[in-house]
Amino acid sequence: MNVLKLGGSVITNKEKPKTADRATIERLAEEIALSRGEPLVLVHGGGSFGHPLAEKFKLTEGFKEASQFLGFSETHRAMVELNDMIIDALISRGVAAFPLPPSSFIITANGRIKTLDIQVLKKALKKGFTPVLHGDTVLDSHKGFSILSGDQLSARLALELKTTRLIFGVDVDGIYTSNPKLNPDARLLESLSLSEARNSAEIGRSTAIDVTGGMLGKIYEALPVVEAGIPVLILNAKKPHNIFKALRGESVVGTILRR
Ligand code: ADP
Repeated sequence: MNVLKLGGSVITNKEKPKTADRATIERLAEEIALSRGEPLVLVHGGGSFGHPLAEKFKLTEGFKEASQFLGFSETHRAMVELNDMIIDALISRGVAAFPLPPSSFIITANGRIKTLDIQVLKKALKKGFTPVLHGDTVLDSHKGFSILSGDQLSARLALELKTTRLIFGVDVDGIYTSNPKLNPDARLLESLSLSEARNSAEIGRSTAIDVTGGMLGKIYEALPVVEAGIPVLILNAKKPHNIFKALRGESVVGTILRR
């Protein structure tokens, strides 16, 4: 079984509010449809649908004032809008997508998943559906509400379901020695051991690998998954065929994290 997380940077244009990359969504739906064999749980990020609104209403900070409630609803609505495009693209290619909005079955505590009712997801998988989830606004037992990232969610699902692998599809080829968008000399790291990954996730500890922003968060979330013996692949989902191959267990240019 695969858990595939498609980054917001892959399926949306992060520079333009609420702008989906429709062509990429259609291509990825095609790759998922063609690769079918192993059961799949699909998680996607928010990109320009979720982040600007979550920031505007300061949702990660938790409850501060009543006006945020409407912001919570609006942010969730934007995520569902993006989710609908992915669901439509999958259904039109014969994939029985099963939408599961995380806000309806997950509660966090200070931003970390605390309660998760996974029964429906497991049952849907067993019946042959493809559950489709996304980063979401969620209720939080400490701060009222919070944002649950697709990265945290997909790592937790990989652990709960003991999947064969966890795949992060992003807009760069994998983990580099430093951010490849800023440093032309950055070198792709094809594999990272658990201890190397741990070091790179602790800012300042690793001198050889400089990871920041979204990639740092992914490595952090990947650690317990790798520890559990589940390989984590980070690869470029903007490049055609990569997701198709990775879902089929074929080798792809990227970074593999393993124990
Ligand atoms: P997504 O939206 O797809 O979940 P993010 O944009 O949040 O992903 O994170 C991926 C980004 O992390 C890359 O596009 C890259 O700019 C940045 N990044 C920072 N450090 C590194 C690194 N060492 N190697 C690769 N990418 C890095």
